[in-house]
Amino acid sequence: MEPNADKLRGLRITSLDDEDDDETELPNQPLPASTVTVAAAASGYDDEDEDEEAEVMLGFLEKPKHPGLLLRHLFPSKAGGIPAWLDPVNLPTGNSSCCGFCGEPLHFVLQIYAPIESNAAAFHRTLFMFMCPSMACLHRDQHEQWTRNQGNPRRSVRVFRCQLPRTNVFYSSEPPSRNNSDKPLCAGAALCHWCGTWKGDKICGGCKKSRYCSEKHQALHWRSGHKNDCLQIINSSEASSSVLPAVGKVPARTSWPEYQIAIDDEVDLDSDGCDEDSSKSLVMQKHGKPDDTMQSWMDQFEADADNQCWAYFQERISRAPEQVLRYCRDPNVKPLWALSAGRPSNPDIPSCSYCKGPLCYEFQIMPQLLYYFGVRNEPNSLDWATIVVYTCQGSCDQNISYKEEFAWVQLYPTSISRP
Ligand SMILES: [Zn+2]
Ligand SMILES: [Zn+2]
Ligand SMILES: [Zn+2]
Ligand SMILES: [Zn+2]
Repeated sequence: MEPNADKLRGLRITSLDDEDDDETELPNQPLPASTVTVAAAASGYDDEDEDEEAEVMLGFLEKPKHPGLLLRHLFPSKAGGIPAWLDPVNLPTGNSSCCGFCGEPLHFVLQIYAPIESNAAAFHRTLFMFMCPSMACLHRDQHEQWTRNQGNPRRSVRVFRCQLPRTNVFYSSEPPSRNNSDKPLCAGAALCHWCGTWKGDKICGGCKKSRYCSEKHQALHWRSGHKNDCLQIINSSEASSSVLPAVGKVPARTSWPEYQIAIDDEVDLDSDGCDEDSSKSLVMQKHGKPDDTMQSWMDQFEADADNQCWAYFQERISRAPEQVLRYCRDPNVKPLWALSAGRPSNPDIPSCSYCKGPLCYEFQIMPQLLYYFGVRNEPNSLDWATIVVYTCQGSCDQNISYKEEFAWVQLYPTSISRP
């Protein structure tokens, strides 16, 4: 177990001093909700033999203690709100920032700070996930993943990896002191005044001040009040500061609620004596989907494999029902699938589009996230069984700041009757 623990420490720490390894000094604060023993990732379900025990880290959402903790120079792991771009200048633009199906700018889902200690180029390393909020687009994305060839795929879910060496132009090489005196070394790119997420490289033709990532967001801003503000800005140059927010303080009108992500080891149910209720399918309950719906669907399901898979998924989740994220960067560890149908086989996982090396499982998001994002359980609302992210095993360092990684979408079957 120890070698894994080493790799995984990266998720929680930004300790920049090798010799100073005192836990209390770790700058990246997410403290475990409870300290627990490591659960074996034994393959209760998988076909292959897997004796190896691997440490899976779980992500839980908490309201930020104060918003300043989620700024980019503190290297946060966070969900919702706007991204804390690690490289604040060379952001993904164009098609990379939009849904490949409806063309709308993608919404920020979450980011995970996951440096790799053994890789100097990944001294800082953050994974960013974005998604189109349309379930129709997610359906099309999931459908196309079977036929997707490696070049320029259409996606409604995108994951980017950004990494920096210890010495870089954006941040001090010393760990942040976290006493409010920390500052990034330079300003980031100007962001869209509507979504606060993407680069604002289009400028309002009236005031020449307000910036947008897309014409869609310009139109939305215009209708929601910039029509009046624009004139005000034109007539008085001083007004622009009160009407247009400063970079980094952009209101995120289109975003999901903001949380910080706390990372914890997976609870070992056996040693922890989990309470009775949590053995039920809490994932479904939390997202407002009654158990019996799922149960009746499972009852008609003929394949034992799927029943078995579902039962194992539920059991595993029930150890910590509020988990929104599972993380384990270990080539031997497999994702936790909700269903045996709709999983990729090896040829379905492409190689890294930058270095051509293999991709491996790094993390997955759970349906619980939808509950925290306030997504209602309605017929066309966003829903997934799990979304699994595969990243370059070598975490290659190519000449592009945001390298797109690969996400695999597993949805519940559409035949499921919804309340
Ligand atoms: Zn879309
Ligand atoms: Zn925008
Ligand atoms: Zn304007
Ligand atoms: Zn690569």
